[in-house]
Amino acid sequence: MNTTQQVAIVTGASRGIGAAIATRLAKDGYAIVVNYAGNAEEAGKVVAAITAAGGYATAVKADVADPQSVRNLFDEAIRTYGRVDVLVNNAGIMPPNLPHLADTDDKTFDALFAVNVKGSFNTLREAATKLQHGGRIVNFSSSVIGLALPGYAVYAATKGAIEVMTNILAKELRGKNITVNAVAPGPTATALFLNGKTPELIDRLAKAAPLERLGTPEDIANTVAFLVGKDGQWINGQTLRANGGAV
Ligand code: NDP
Repeated sequence: MNTTQQVAIVTGASRGIGAAIATRLAKDGYAIVVNYAGNAEEAGKVVAAITAAGGYATAVKADVADPQSVRNLFDEAIRTYGRVDVLVNNAGIMPPNLPHLADTDDKTFDALFAVNVKGSFNTLREAATKLQHGGRIVNFSSSVIGLALPGYAVYAATKGAIEVMTNILAKELRGKNITVNAVAPGPTATALFLNGKTPELIDRLAKAAPLERLGTPEDIANTVAFLVGKDGQWINGQTLRANGGAV
């Protein structure tokens, strides 16, 4: 491998939006660390597709909620490729049944904050000292912060925390020429969105945007590629909603 090649860690890249981001950034010339939590087979398929197309990729298992696993993830990336230039903090969870706040149990609350908030905190803390000068960080929020749909209170609260960390970390990294932004997708056709919803509800949510369809993982990967690439270099500390105009 060309040792000057830039390297991107994409968390939660075995499926859904993360898999599309990994594939897109590989096409844009990055060597990719395909992080996953448990689904080794799917992560392996993403790596195989990238390498078959002439790119570089390696799969690394790490639960982002666990600080030591995240340290190992960065160490493994540096051992394999010698550097890390880009962190895409895509890994996240959402309960399929979306209970109202009054019906949300402690276990659900704790799991959401452990993966969505602590998970991003863990990777951001590593990235703040280990990313190359001129690097890029893209976090994941959600347009549901703006839509304010019943059932999303705790999930949206985790994303609110991410937007705040995005803005403040961008300022804390002054002097390193590293940008920190967040993407806030609207409803996007992945397991996280589709599981537990009736076809009628999916159709209604798809029609909420004036463009009258669900987002695709590729729509969101295009947005990430813009923020990571040269054209996005002046965008810093922002949250970019990508939702077809739903909010
Ligand atoms: P999916 O459920 O399709 O995929 C989730 C990915 O995250 C998988 O690769 C999964 O790995 C990984 N993951 C889950 N938990 C962990 C963990 N603890 N450590 C490491 N990896 C983990 O989700 P989406 O692609 O839909 O969502 C991606 C991001 O986009 C999330 O942050 C989500 O909140 C956000 N988002 C999604 C929207 C949507 O409508 N889909 C809308 C707004 C925001 P494995 O396969 O190993 O389980």
